[in-house]
Amino acid sequence: MTTVETTAAPSPETAPVRVIPHWIDGAEHPSTSGRTAPVYNPATGQVTAQVALADQAELDAAIASARAGFETWSGFSIAKRQAVMFAFRELLNARKRELAGIITSEHGKVVSDAMGEILRGQEVVELATGFPHLIKGAYSENVSTGIDVYSTKQPLGVVGIISPFNFPAMVPMWFFPIAIATGNAVVLKPSEKDPSAALWLAALWKEAGLPDGVFTVLQGDKLAVDGLLESPVVQSISFVGSTPIAQYIYETASKHGKRVQALGGAKNHMLVLPDADLDLVADQAVNAGYGAAGERCMAISVVLAVEPVADELIGKIQDRIAKLRIGNGAGVDGVEPDMGPLITGIHRAKVSEYVDIAEQDGAKIVVDGRFQVDGAEDGFFFGPTLIDDIPTTSRAYTEEIFGPVLSVVRVQSYDEGLDLINSGQFGNGTAIFTNDGGAARRFQNEVHVGMIGINVPIPVPVAYHSFGGWKKSLFGDAKAYGVHGFDFFTREKAITSRWLDPASHGGINLGFPQN
Ligand code: NAD
Repeated sequence: MTTVETTAAPSPETAPVRVIPHWIDGAEHPSTSGRTAPVYNPATGQVTAQVALADQAELDAAIASARAGFETWSGFSIAKRQAVMFAFRELLNARKRELAGIITSEHGKVVSDAMGEILRGQEVVELATGFPHLIKGAYSENVSTGIDVYSTKQPLGVVGIISPFNFPAMVPMWFFPIAIATGNAVVLKPSEKDPSAALWLAALWKEAGLPDGVFTVLQGDKLAVDGLLESPVVQSISFVGSTPIAQYIYETASKHGKRVQALGGAKNHMLVLPDADLDLVADQAVNAGYGAAGERCMAISVVLAVEPVADELIGKIQDRIAKLRIGNGAGVDGVEPDMGPLITGIHRAKVSEYVDIAEQDGAKIVVDGRFQVDGAEDGFFFGPTLIDDIPTTSRAYTEEIFGPVLSVVRVQSYDEGLDLINSGQFGNGTAIFTNDGGAARRFQNEVHVGMIGINVPIPVPVAYHSFGGWKKSLFGDAKAYGVHGFDFFTREKAITSRWLDPASHGGINLGFPQN
């Protein structure tokens, strides 16, 4: 039986009531819209704050401030911009524990996992400090007699970032370090479910010396998002979230002439060949299936077990689940549990419904997480769930659940497993577990997925490679960070130059220029 750890919830009378503001013009900007949404501590189920939801006037103020910020910032020399980037990196590195606490209090993930997401975001900050090398452009001398061609990379202007709840620090950091380093001004619209991390990061930029208006946080919902998509001032949109919204963002922003990065949902499969080390597989399936309560776009949600290994593997996963501790991610009596709650009560109900669907469709629920946590009934906890023999026609198999639910499908061969992965609607991440190098090589070549792990369950690329899936996990072709990120946040100019001396003047010639 899974161990469950609890803490007493604060009473509603003592819970603080505050409205989480925007960050505009280098300072907190209280909202006057009169619109708010509740922010919860998912471990207690209590409302800890309200977040402002922008109206048109606040949207206009944010964009106007960013426009002015861009004018200032894009005039800074490369050396001065680099100094600010290094200062931000140092402050973030020194103070990341504060940020981890904020993430846990609004998202629910355990503090060490919150630290993990910050470190992965910090990688992109570190990459971005080296931006001068990546925006150098190119020079070709004497392409024709006396003529040189060279290219420069310039910032876009005001750029919009719209982020999901599940990585309130890391996902914005996939984009804004590169956007800012290359001279743009950012308007970030964080998830309304955990909006405080963005404000903390904004204050850190201020401390690092970033001019006012270069990093703006606009709290809000669809109204703020649509305003960014439609504004003629905003030059690009970087979005991460669920597939239907990613598609909407891609289509709407494109229609308004913007560049778009639009990353969507996932259903990541782990293919286990019979020669794999099953203890390694069981450890990794549990880590990647239940870490952050399954609320990761790179979580493993399906194990494809090539027979005859399924029974043994399921037994090993069950043993490990029994030892997992669930509780308040901030710790219980100074001890950190393995897994925290889900983000909201509504999401918990949705995850539960998917387990009901699997059961109705004939799957076997081997470990059932549909239980209440004694003493924390109001928290949004959902236990690790293991499902066997899930029909591949079930919605619980074909759709993204985004909770701590791991399903096993028994297949007879590598080819049967590969076909299942390739026929799915998503193509974010996948993994193969085997000791057969030839099979692994075939898999990396044949699978229709953007990010592949070989004996690695969550293959999130490092900052200098780019992140992005295939199919309904990414719309368009612009990936996050790495070289794609630098290309996305800059516009190239190609200059053809000739310095004439009177003797080489060719006179009038209406023909097409030739070399
Ligand atoms: P979401 O799509 O509900 O919300 C994402 C953002 O879009 C939020 O800022 C939200 O305010 C905004 N939004 C929501 N509905 C909108 C609407 N109708 N119109 C305009 N804007 C809207 O996603 P979420 O629940 O916050 O995050 C979880 C999802 O994100 C999962 O599907 C997960 O797979 C995905 N995700 C993908 C990646 C990736 O890299 N591919 C990474 C992290 C999360």
